[in-house]
Amino acid sequence: MADTDTIVVIGGGIAGVSCTETLSTLCKNESITLVTASPLIKAVTNFKQISRRLEEFDVVENPSSELQEAHRNVTVLQAKVVSIDPLKREIVTSNGKTVPYTKLCICTGGSPKLIMKDDPNVIGIRDTESVSQFQTKLGGSRRVIIVGNGGIATELAYEIGDCEVVWAIKDKSISSAFVDAGTAQFFLPHLSGDKNVQEGPMKRVKYTVKPSPASSSESGAKGGALGPDWSLGIPMNGQVQRSRHVRVEYECEIKEIISLAEIRQRNLKVDKIGDIEDENTDWPVYALLTNSKLYGCDFIVSATGVVPNGNELVMQDLDLKLAADGGVIVNDCMKTNIDHIYAAGDVCSASWDWAPHWLQMRLWSQARQMGCYAAQCIKADLNDKAISLDFCFELFAHVTKFFGYKVILLGKFNGQGLDDEYEILLRMTKGVEYIKVILKDGRMQGAILIGETDLEETFENLILNQLDLSRYGEDLLDPGIDIDDYFD
Ligand code: FAD
Repeated sequence: MADTDTIVVIGGGIAGVSCTETLSTLCKNESITLVTASPLIKAVTNFKQISRRLEEFDVVENPSSELQEAHRNVTVLQAKVVSIDPLKREIVTSNGKTVPYTKLCICTGGSPKLIMKDDPNVIGIRDTESVSQFQTKLGGSRRVIIVGNGGIATELAYEIGDCEVVWAIKDKSISSAFVDAGTAQFFLPHLSGDKNVQEGPMKRVKYTVKPSPASSSESGAKGGALGPDWSLGIPMNGQVQRSRHVRVEYECEIKEIISLAEIRQRNLKVDKIGDIEDENTDWPVYALLTNSKLYGCDFIVSATGVVPNGNELVMQDLDLKLAADGGVIVNDCMKTNIDHIYAAGDVCSASWDWAPHWLQMRLWSQARQMGCYAAQCIKADLNDKAISLDFCFELFAHVTKFFGYKVILLGKFNGQGLDDEYEILLRMTKGVEYIKVILKDGRMQGAILIGETDLEETFENLILNQLDLSRYGEDLLDPGIDIDDYFD
């Protein structure tokens, strides 16, 4: 049993820091200890609510001293937690320190799923360190192969310049972690030529990377995951001065990574692309795809998603229940199966009955919301009070940027869980905007808004209030009708 009233939070990513800050405000008389393996911690600045559910904010990486100065009841320890003893209610860190806790919140994030570990030719992108490793490698490169079809792969495919890109995806369409095949068509023209010129001011979260101090992450643990806009202001150029071109290889994965020596030894025939190579061109590494194409490249970026770090903790003899995706199971009060232990952010799997228009995606916005809500749950628990699920979990709302366009995803934006029993309304102006609405029984279930549509607030309300829209039919998306006036 703890001998002081210390609430311990593990992890200096956005979930852990949001949890710590909220706890500091809610529990003024208690001390809060944030233990994190990374030397820098995340901070949210310029927070603005741009609609009831969509948030706008910047993210910076700060030294931990700034959090301690701003919150007098917070202490930050830079150390890796190596074990948790739920009976004694204490954690042990890699530098041998034991910290007792009254309540513990695990916010240890996730790790990139690498297609190949310990291969210097394969890199994953997760934190500031991995981005600078990527930039350095790219600077001397003629061709990279990107594997994966989520947000990071999509941003890379768009941002990389002066370097040939082969994008290997296992699906029939690009960016499938976020958008369906129809929506992906809107983006396809932006895979080559100049970048989208209509990048205007964006209402969205923004991420800023500060240079790391000399000290590095504790015991090889990774820093916090990057977040939205991580690629802004980060030059991503190779050494071949030519117009952008991305070759997409659909419905395939990497079957084998082959060295130059093996290519020669096995006398394999390498597929050529464009004019940057001829019969005699050698590459540092080759990738054989499951569609039998064999390409040479300077290196491979593995952007195949994240595995929650739940397993890491379980290996340390903690009997935490994990979901099939490896996340720590939490209930609607962010509690794990172990008394006094909570979890939030990428590391957890939301295992309550979700509201009809919400779903978990391991996103920065959800890490913040979960961190703040976990703090409220801890406070309620300390006061023996019940708490009801925060309203941010009523509707999935996410704003991001793909190919220079603002992209807003609302509710069941891809008809998730609707068993294909829904209608789709579409409006598209090539190169300008794309609007897709999912309707079931005449009621809006979700929407994808690409470009400056200004429809997010109205659509949020229509999804939440489940108004019967049958009588409006396709007028709902008629650009000649001011839809705001309709539903005000
Ligand atoms: P993390 O940020 O991973 O933080 C985990 C923390 O725990 C770290 O500080 C780590 O050092 C610490 N830690 C781990 N183990 C231990 C231990 N044993 N002891 C002590 N400390 C430990 N999301 C979006 O919403 N939009 C985007 O556009 C977007 N783009 C992304 C681009 C990239 C390249 C990446 C990698 C992610 C992106 N994400 C995006 C996802 C988003 O960054 C994550 O969902 C979010 O940051 C998760 O926050 P977290 O606090 O849960 O975990």
